[in-house]
Amino acid sequence: MKLIFLGTGGGRFSAINQRRMTGGFRIDNLGGRNYHIDPGPGALVRTYQFGLDPRNIDGIFVSHAHTDHYNDAEILIEAMTRGMTQKNGHIMGSKSVLSGFEKWGPCISSYHKSKSEILELEAGDIRYFNNCLVRATPTKHGDPMGVGFQIEYKDFKISYTSDTSYFPELAKSHEGADVFIASVLRPGGKSIKGHLCSSSFINLIEEIQPKLAIMTHLGLKMISNNPIGEAKRITKLTGIKTLAAFDGMSLDINYNNPSKARIISLKDVDAPYHGSNINLSNFERKNSRKLAAKNGEDDELSQIRKYVH
Ligand SMILES: [Zn+2]
Repeated sequence: MKLIFLGTGGGRFSAINQRRMTGGFRIDNLGGRNYHIDPGPGALVRTYQFGLDPRNIDGIFVSHAHTDHYNDAEILIEAMTRGMTQKNGHIMGSKSVLSGFEKWGPCISSYHKSKSEILELEAGDIRYFNNCLVRATPTKHGDPMGVGFQIEYKDFKISYTSDTSYFPELAKSHEGADVFIASVLRPGGKSIKGHLCSSSFINLIEEIQPKLAIMTHLGLKMISNNPIGEAKRITKLTGIKTLAAFDGMSLDINYNNPSKARIISLKDVDAPYHGSNINLSNFERKNSRKLAAKNGEDDELSQIRKYVH
C-alpha cells in the first residue's frame, strides 16, 4: 500500500497562496484499489505533476465542505468515470458535501453523483465498500457535519482526523489505527479554533498508540517553523514514529511494519519550490512570515505580528 501526498498545506491561506500544495492525498493499492482523499485546489494538476493518473482512482472521499478539501472533487469524479460516460467508483463524504446542510454545500452536483456509488457518512456510521470497511469519525470544526474516517482493510487500519479541534472522544474514535494521519495546523501548544496543534496531536498519539503518525494540512506558522524538526521532536516525546508530510511524499507501507515505511520524494517536474528539496525549507523560512504579514493572511496573523513589529 502507498500513501501519496499531493498537498500538505492547510487552511484558506495556504490554499490561496499555494506556498504548499493542497491536492489532498491518495491511498494507492489498498486491496488493489486507489482512493483520493480530500482533493483540494490543484488535486488534478498535482496528480499529473507527480506522475500519477487520476483515471485509475476507485473512490473519492471528501470530509467536509471547505474549499481546501473539496475543490477538485468534481473533476476527479469526471476522471474516475471517464468523463461521466461510465458507471464507476465510490464517492464518500459528509452530508454537507453530498446533500448540503444549512449553509454548507452541497459540494458535488447531482450530475456528478449520478455515475458512482454514494456513501453519505455521519460520525459513527460504519459502511462497507469494495473490500474495505469505513467508520466515519467525529470532528469539531466549522462545518458541523464534517467527518474523518478509519478505513479497515483486512486487519489494517488507516485513520484520518480531517480538520478538527481536540476533544477527549476523538482518540476513542481512532482507536486501533496502524497509521494515523492528522491535520495539524500549528506547532506548539496554541491552536486556532477548530484545529489541532502539535500538543493536541501529541495527546492523540499517546492515546491511540499508532505504529506510524503523519501530520499534514500544515498552516503557515507550522510551515515556517521546520515541520520536519517538529515531527522529530514528537517522535522523541511519544516514542511513536512521526512524519511531517511534504508535497510529493510517497510512503511505501508494509502492512506488518508501518513504522518502517520507505519514504520516496516523487519527482516534481513543474515546481522547484515545492517538494522535499532543501530549497523548500530555505524558501519557507525566509519568506513565509514576511509574505503572510504583507498579504494580511489572518489565520496566522496574530502570531506573525509579534515577529513583524
Ligand atoms: Zn476545514
